[in-house]
Amino acid sequence: MSHDEQLAQAARLDAQDPLAELAESFVRPADRIYLDGNSLGMAPRAAMGRARQLIEQEWATGLVGSWDSWLDLPLRVGDRLGSDFLGAAPGQVAISDSTTVNLFKLAAAVLDGSPRERRVIVGDRGNFPTDRYVLEGLAASRGFQLRSVDFDPVHGPDAEALSSALDDRVALVLLSQVDYRSSALADMAAINRAAAAVGARVLWDLSHAAGVVPIRLDQDGCDLAVGCTYKYLAGGPGAPAFLYVRRELQPQLRQPVWGWFGQRDQFLMGPHYQPLDDVRRYLTGTPPILGLRVLEASLEVLAAAGVEALRAKAEQLTDFAVGLFDLWLVEAGFQLTSPRAAASRGAHIGVSHPDAESLCLRLLERGVITDFRQPDRIRLGMAPATTRFRDVCEGVWSLRQLALEVPAGSAPPAGGG
Ligand SMILES: *Cc1c(COP(=O)(O)O)cnc(C)c1O
Repeated sequence: MSHDEQLAQAARLDAQDPLAELAESFVRPADRIYLDGNSLGMAPRAAMGRARQLIEQEWATGLVGSWDSWLDLPLRVGDRLGSDFLGAAPGQVAISDSTTVNLFKLAAAVLDGSPRERRVIVGDRGNFPTDRYVLEGLAASRGFQLRSVDFDPVHGPDAEALSSALDDRVALVLLSQVDYRSSALADMAAINRAAAAVGARVLWDLSHAAGVVPIRLDQDGCDLAVGCTYKYLAGGPGAPAFLYVRRELQPQLRQPVWGWFGQRDQFLMGPHYQPLDDVRRYLTGTPPILGLRVLEASLEVLAAAGVEALRAKAEQLTDFAVGLFDLWLVEAGFQLTSPRAAASRGAHIGVSHPDAESLCLRLLERGVITDFRQPDRIRLGMAPATTRFRDVCEGVWSLRQLALEVPAGSAPPAGGG
């Protein structure tokens, strides 16, 4: 089918899109097609008003007195995120630190509480770098053995492949619910069951899932999770991350950063650390209030649409993209590196091509923003709150046009990085 026909189809889908109005709540750069909302979500207009209010009123006027309304923000925003997006009952989610730091805190808490005979950590060799590095560091500093599993590069972690790495020496398993490269969506409940059968705990990284997959942490038997808020949750660059600790586990585990925000009767300033028994024991120091207020505003915008609607549109968008891949990209030398079934992936797809790096740069010159991942992968992110079917159509068409200009396997153009 021709470009014109696909463009007409995209226009029909955009006209029927129940989330079209939601997209108007975000600032859209006029001259660009944004297919990278899985790296940094677009800015909601409400976030700007909230930041201004924080600075002009709460900070400039309220000064230190505003701490009365700021102190419980990490839990208030955490509860909101938990109930609207994570399937977590109140009192189990806190906003704090970065994803990397939260990974470290929760993984260390599990390892430090493990009996002597459990000295193995299981990781995914294809996981996001920071997840792998944190495990590497913890294994080295605490004398654990790191077992890295090679899961299917397209379909990601599954309970069956994981089982071959599980035994009663495993203390901790760390996996991503949605794979940052392939977009593969893991079956959390099945993996939790497999790990529980050998007495291991699973720590889930939800960075590429939160906001686009209906997550059921409580219902699926999850113990621990972390994730970032600047991708699909549109919390803004460097927005604070979240952590989840199942209620029964909260008083049992102890995280390694003994800060005053985890302390019982914090303002008594006592001589020794005695952590609270609830999720606050996983906090560290003074929370980033500016980031929390902006995140709060973004979550309100997204929650009004609802995660079910966001999920439905993500499936439609990625289905549309896979259809265009079949029509246009196969003959231009690309391979699909994501699952074909919408139910098995998040809100981005990956395609590979020998000239991926230079294609990605040349797309950028044309105003199409995607991202390149070593060695030959381009990710097309379709954040459902802001991506239009038209964006997908034009982005994939540009990619095809550029690839057909360059013979496969040729060197990038001079200065192309
Ligand atoms: C984006 C992402 C991170 C980011 O960690 P930071 O500490 O925010 O830099 C971590 N893990 C995964 C799986 C991610 O996708």
